[in-house]
Amino acid sequence: MITHEDLINLRAIAGEQSVSAGESVLSLHSHDESYHPPALPDVVVWPHSTGEVSRIARYAFERRIPVTAWGVGTSLEGNPIPMSHGIVVDFQEMQGILAVHPQDFQVDVQAGVVYKELNKTLSRHGLFFPPDPGAAATIGGMIGNNASGIRTVKYGATKDHILRLVVVLPGGEVIRIGNRARKSSSGYDLIHLFAGSEGTLGIITEATLRLAGLPANFMALRVTFPEIKNATDTVFQVMSSGFSPAAMEFLDSNVIGVLNRDRGLDMEERPTLLMEFNGFSEEGLRAEMAYIEEICAENCSTFIDKGIGQTERDRLWEMRHLTFESIKRQNPGLLPLIMDVAVPLSRYSDMVAFIKQEVRDLRAFVFGHAGDGNIHVIVMDLPADSYRWARVEEASRRIVEKALAFEGTCTGEHGVGIGKRCFLAEEHGDSLELMKRLKRLIDPEALFNPGKLFL
Ligand SMILES: Cc1cc2nc3c(=O)[nH]c(=O)nc-3n(C[C@H](O)[C@H](O)[C@H](O)COP(=O)(O)OP(=O)(O)OC[C@H]3O[C@@H](n4cnc5c(N)ncnc54)[C@H](O)[C@@H]3O)c2cc1C
Repeated sequence: MITHEDLINLRAIAGEQSVSAGESVLSLHSHDESYHPPALPDVVVWPHSTGEVSRIARYAFERRIPVTAWGVGTSLEGNPIPMSHGIVVDFQEMQGILAVHPQDFQVDVQAGVVYKELNKTLSRHGLFFPPDPGAAATIGGMIGNNASGIRTVKYGATKDHILRLVVVLPGGEVIRIGNRARKSSSGYDLIHLFAGSEGTLGIITEATLRLAGLPANFMALRVTFPEIKNATDTVFQVMSSGFSPAAMEFLDSNVIGVLNRDRGLDMEERPTLLMEFNGFSEEGLRAEMAYIEEICAENCSTFIDKGIGQTERDRLWEMRHLTFESIKRQNPGLLPLIMDVAVPLSRYSDMVAFIKQEVRDLRAFVFGHAGDGNIHVIVMDLPADSYRWARVEEASRRIVEKALAFEGTCTGEHGVGIGKRCFLAEEHGDSLELMKRLKRLIDPEALFNPGKLFL
């Protein structure tokens, strides 16, 4: 429990205006975007520098106070919920873009910068940071969850774009990991240890990110199919024919229906694929488009909307970015349980078929980053109705178990947080014990984001 003296000491570190135990502030930092129950922190601190974060961590260590890092709380598995209360370290005051290195395709940032804002700045240099989770996430939160998104099929996840990190360890020690070379075989890969560790090992204050050049031209297609299997088989065939889509998304007919109602659209309510390809010349993209259309026709596509150029790409993709909001708006009073499994591409069709069967009696919406073998299921229901919610959780458990049986993972991108802890033993076997040993070594008092990852 935080005392009055703790508040005074934290204010001495971060400044009078940068520490709050006000009711509304605590409430805002008690939940993410998931259904997991909220937990109030005792205090929220907005540091301005690595030095301040280090001093907060040292003070917390001396007083054995839990510390949870906070980006903007858009997680979907309870990842930043401060289950053991204590201090929430909010990165809103650390949004600096420290240096752009256009010739090296790199940028140095503070952890609180929102990736969409970062990309606005980078576009002036013809560059962008490709991982794209859709929500207004921070770089710290994206590294915390190893977030990805629609462009991962071409560019990789957040962890594939980190070259250097500045990390504050429990106890306050500051370490610098990595270098600015494009490749390195030097020592253990600590960057990938911290990426996806959900703030349980260290708090990231700065990062050097690897960037990509903005694509010169775009081609996009929205294709509908009579059956789900036609759509999911198309995914496999496009990927195995040597094409390199920049994005490849599957949406089931329930998702299309909700988007139609919410956005006043008139799309065929059938299984749908959305695809994007990047290239240089219009001729080249047209030729690619013709091949893709052929593959779709072989799989009995019933309708194709397509276009070349950025405006056309934006027109075809706009509704995809609104999916989560549309589902929530069209199901007032209900809460979402969001599943996020990923499987090898060869099992994608079987996995989606299993999911559809499993959720047939639920208000379920199935979609995902098909090119990565990643599938999301949003089930809208009432956690307070224990009978109904037990059925939702049962479906979630069976879907994860099937993904693991297909040699996949319990979470493709949302992280373990609270909801996936129970699957780690099955997924990781003996290596889970090594993860726990690493946690004990780096955070012996279990002060950083306690209660996450491990049961
Ligand atoms: C509409 C919607 C769509 C989404 N789509 C996607 C998607 O397509 N792909 C995807 O991957 N995710 C998606 N997400 C989930 C979410 O946006 C990501 O997980 C994102 O990375 C969370 O970032 P954040 O800044 O909100 O972090 P938070 O939720 O605040 O925190 C995330 C985790 O990182 C830790 N953390 C935060 N900052 C730091 C730091 N500086 N150092 C160390 N740890 C830190 C936190 O303790 C927590 O464990 C979506 C969410 C929403 C609401």
